[in-house]
Amino acid sequence: MPGVDVRLVDVVKRFGETLAVDHVNLEVQDGEFFSLLGPSGCGKTTTLRMIGGFEEPTSGLIELQGQDVTWLPPYKRNVNTVFQNYALFPHLTVYENVAFGLKRRGGLKDGEIKSRVGEMLKLVELPGFDKRKPNQISGGQAQRVALARALINRPAVLLLDEPLGALDLKLRKQMQVELKRIQQEVGITFIYVTHDQEEAMTMSDRIAVMNRGSYEQLGDPESLYERPTTRFVAGFLGVSNLLPGTADGTAGAYAVIRLADNTRVRVPAALVNGNHNVEVGIRPEKIRLANPDSAASPETNQMRGVIKDASYIGVSTQYIVESRGGSQLTVYEQNVERATRAELWAPGEEVALSWTPEHTFVIKDTTPHDADN
Ligand code: ATP
Repeated sequence: MPGVDVRLVDVVKRFGETLAVDHVNLEVQDGEFFSLLGPSGCGKTTTLRMIGGFEEPTSGLIELQGQDVTWLPPYKRNVNTVFQNYALFPHLTVYENVAFGLKRRGGLKDGEIKSRVGEMLKLVELPGFDKRKPNQISGGQAQRVALARALINRPAVLLLDEPLGALDLKLRKQMQVELKRIQQEVGITFIYVTHDQEEAMTMSDRIAVMNRGSYEQLGDPESLYERPTTRFVAGFLGVSNLLPGTADGTAGAYAVIRLADNTRVRVPAALVNGNHNVEVGIRPEKIRLANPDSAASPETNQMRGVIKDASYIGVSTQYIVESRGGSQLTVYEQNVERATRAELWAPGEEVALSWTPEHTFVIKDTTPHDADN
């Protein structure tokens, strides 16, 4: 069974008046692809730098594979880092760049170095590039070389700080799939810093969503998306509709919530957990639109509304619907059954909205957050 590879215990980092990292407790498992996700300035880079030894915590403890490394310099930690500006040595060839760490460590025969470099270039799909200099390869290829260089010493943990930030969107998407494959192949723990939610979701086993120096929620991509528990997490991982309401009894395994327009909807009782004021959250793609006269399934939650706007965006159509209580809801409908403009719902049309109780989440902290927008 895999154990804990990296442990942060009550880690705090202050820069003068700025509280960059605020009492973070974290356990990253051996072999895990773990991401720190959050907006600019939330403390993710500082957290990563403390794990790498480039920054000392103001207080708290950092352990790598059970060893307290809080005060160890970077070169004494079994950790390597890949930065956004990959910093290859411009005067060295690709081969020499990748071999650099091995040679510096010493004790290996040329034959072994050659075979290890060959293995690494194969892993990052750059065989045949050995003799090129960094200015003779593309940005994506340079990032692969940086990765090969960081992995060749077989560190226990690889830290990656927005390594794809300098690449264009298409290349970034390709590299995300590549990075995930490489991580699975080498089985090394990756800790990845990004502000891009899609990037984190594509690659990670688990994600800590950070805000103002600590994480608000930690989990696998699916549970973070399907069941966010704070407004910030709901808003950071995609679009969501949040409807304020109050607890109004139970119905079997469900809690009943009364919304602003007096509609009563059901949500899994465990999500409400005894709270009175909540916000019911529904992702836009979970809502079905139908003619208000058609019979709806009693299993679903239902609301009435009027289409305010319809935007055809190719793969789906985005509707803005105003509920009777005055809330604006975003609804995505895949362009499958209704695919032409004439078949779409039109502004002014009245619609019935429905979704299953299992497709709701519940926000318990109802205080507004300035980082939501
Ligand atoms: P970004 O995505 O913009 O890199 P981040 O989430 O990685 O942001 P950090 O770089 O960890 O955020 O910064 C967290 C906070 O600490 C910010 O308010 C930043 O201004 C501050 N900070 C970071 N490094 C220093 C430093 N060396 N001196 C002073 N303040 C710093």
